Amino acid sequence: MILAYHRINPWYRDDALTVFPEDFEKQMGYLIKRKFKPVLPEEYTSNFSPSTVDYSLFLISFDDGYADNLWYALPVLRNFGIKPIIFLTANYIGTEGIFERYKDREKDRFLNWQEVKEMLVDGVVFGSHSLSHPHLPQVGNDRLQAEVAESKKILEDKTGREVNFFCYPYGDFDERVIESVQKAGYKGAFVTPGIRRKIKRSVYTLPRTGIYGHNDFLTFQIKIWKDYLTERYF
Ligand SMILES: [Zn+2]
Repeated sequence: MILAYHRINPWYRDDALTVFPEDFEKQMGYLIKRKFKPVLPEEYTSNFSPSTVDYSLFLISFDDGYADNLWYALPVLRNFGIKPIIFLTANYIGTEGIFERYKDREKDRFLNWQEVKEMLVDGVVFGSHSLSHPHLPQVGNDRLQAEVAESKKILEDKTGREVNFFCYPYGDFDERVIESVQKAGYKGAFVTPGIRRKIKRSVYTLPRTGIYGHNDFLTFQIKIWKDYLTERYF
């Protein structure tokens, strides 16, 4: 299973995208205790096919690249030996820009490149979440190509690592977008939680389960087991 988070911090009780650090810790502890095995994206996707996938594997992902991933998520993940994939919106990394739903330039900022490099040491994997977070099916071919391929190149230049995975902003994609992601050389792509549309399941439409701030621990457990059973039997 692939879990999708955005932010981990103690500040925003009413923000769906924010999970409190103590809740996050409890969630990760639960997965480990129930013998789910944390893997890297490469391991998760390398032999991906519905008949060969090991359903006890899990992957933790974060979208957008918030600095609180470093401040609050990484210490927890490090403790449990879990290495996440973080999808960076390349043009926002190291800038003053923040997303509209937030206000605090320090608390709500994105990672900078120095922090990204620090996180590589802990085994964090970085993927692309495009250049500027648009609805990709709505942009023209040139812009699509830039959002998909240029973001890969920027991230590779800055990290010195191959960037093999893409995450569709807003979970929005169509056949043309998938084709462009394939053409750019990505080995896989992730879909936004809740979008288990009737899509052909492939390594370019990997479904994720979203964990939100308003999910209590019972809801978390139900999501985990529902995910496990869905992947296993349906
Ligand atoms: Zn996003």
